[in-house]
Amino acid sequence: MYKKDDVVTLTIDDIGVDGEGIGKIDGYTVFVKDAIIGDTVTAKIIKAKKNYGYGRLLEVIEPSKDRVNSVCPVARQCGGCQLQQMSYEAQLEFKANKVRKNIERIGGLTDFEFFPIIGMDKPYNYRNKAQYPVGLDKNGEIVMGFYAGRTHSIISCTDCAIGARENAHILKMIRDWMSKYSIKPYNEVTKAGLIRHILIRNGYHTKEIMVCFVINANKLPSKKEAAFREIAGKLCEDKNVVSVMVNFNDEDTNVILGRQCDCISGKSYIEDYIGDIKFGISPLSFFQVNPVQTEKLYKKALEFAGLTGNETVWDMYCGIGTISLFLAKNAKKVYGVEIVPQAIEDARNNAILNNITNTEFFVGKAEEVVPEFASKNPDTRIDVVVVDPPRKGCDETLLNTIARMQSERVVYVSCDSATLARDLKIMDGLGYKTVKVQPVDQFPHSVHVETVVLLSQQKPDDYVEVELELDELDVTSAERR
Ligand code: SAH
Repeated sequence: MYKKDDVVTLTIDDIGVDGEGIGKIDGYTVFVKDAIIGDTVTAKIIKAKKNYGYGRLLEVIEPSKDRVNSVCPVARQCGGCQLQQMSYEAQLEFKANKVRKNIERIGGLTDFEFFPIIGMDKPYNYRNKAQYPVGLDKNGEIVMGFYAGRTHSIISCTDCAIGARENAHILKMIRDWMSKYSIKPYNEVTKAGLIRHILIRNGYHTKEIMVCFVINANKLPSKKEAAFREIAGKLCEDKNVVSVMVNFNDEDTNVILGRQCDCISGKSYIEDYIGDIKFGISPLSFFQVNPVQTEKLYKKALEFAGLTGNETVWDMYCGIGTISLFLAKNAKKVYGVEIVPQAIEDARNNAILNNITNTEFFVGKAEEVVPEFASKNPDTRIDVVVVDPPRKGCDETLLNTIARMQSERVVYVSCDSATLARDLKIMDGLGYKTVKVQPVDQFPHSVHVETVVLLSQQKPDDYVEVELELDELDVTSAERR
């Protein structure tokens, strides 16, 4: 048992869910942020519980063979990347192991094909969306960057290692412009000031850029209109900046974007592609943040779905329909369901944008919409089901419904391998065998890992085969029972 302010020396042998190193000393578990597997460190206990505590890293006494210098100078304070101090190869190995171990331990499954994790060739500058809070530092200077992990103090950083390279220049222009016109950043305490956040979205394939000012007002202040037109004009001198927007958020809230936007120059959206599907992206749209890896992930999902053009498919938790539209070209019909109405509106618009006419989208909870659809359309045979749930995984009612629909294949896209493993176990009990598991690194330097799994229905034929094998082995029928 250790207490607050004790200094301990320990070797890290695991990584926790938030990327913190985990080590043991005399049976006492200590979580040490910024330490990685293989490091021997000294840490000061900052919070002590009976069986475990949290330590602040004081010194790396012996670095892990996987330790590297973080590319980003503020990696430790920022908290956006938890694994930058670990070589990319080691990150991939850690993530692949995590997926496999969870499926084996939580899922209780061992008999599946496990493919090597798909990583990025260049694991930097991949994010196509960044939201920079704007504030004042101690000296009254304008600061733009990121909130220090779990706090509201802003760390100055305009050239994030995983963000788009163009952003630093755009932010500098905005900072100079704010100084010139005395445009004040929003102050969370006094609720005064205008500029809350700068949102920048970049099209990976199209190179289109959107700059969106999130302001503390419900309309553009008339006295500042000319100033906004000036910065919009300046930003658009870069031909890639095709959209300058203002988003109105005058509420006392942690939510970054308000519900209303106005376009002050160019278009009100940018376009980008995933595969050959085009998407219109507005400030409020959900869009996958790593388009390069998303394409690889969804291509795997498509491959696992094994479509020939005649299938009827459900895409559950479909968001803006990225997977639905990806599958639609190779299927007879795709149904999508999603709880956020705005996302379904985007999905429908994206279908139109791509001349896709064989999709149909429903707003609602998957676990309610799908059973209702199944009971109203008992003759509609569903060949393939794709699920891409949020971290908490699938609702059990939904898994039962999927099994009752008797589709041959289920493709499970997951952002949390623990809930994935739990659900695979349930599906196993419902007659769906986990056949293939493919991890994909969507978010290099973070602890997150995506996984695509192919599940296949155990058909009565499969049982016959087993019986035949038993016959061949000359087992008596009594033994078989
Ligand atoms: N494949 C999607 C992203 C899926 S993320 C895309 O690429 O756009 C998971 C989605 O599930 C989110 O959009 C979330 O709004 C939605 N969701 C959460 N709970 C749900 C539920 N009970 N029923 C349907 N959708 C739900």
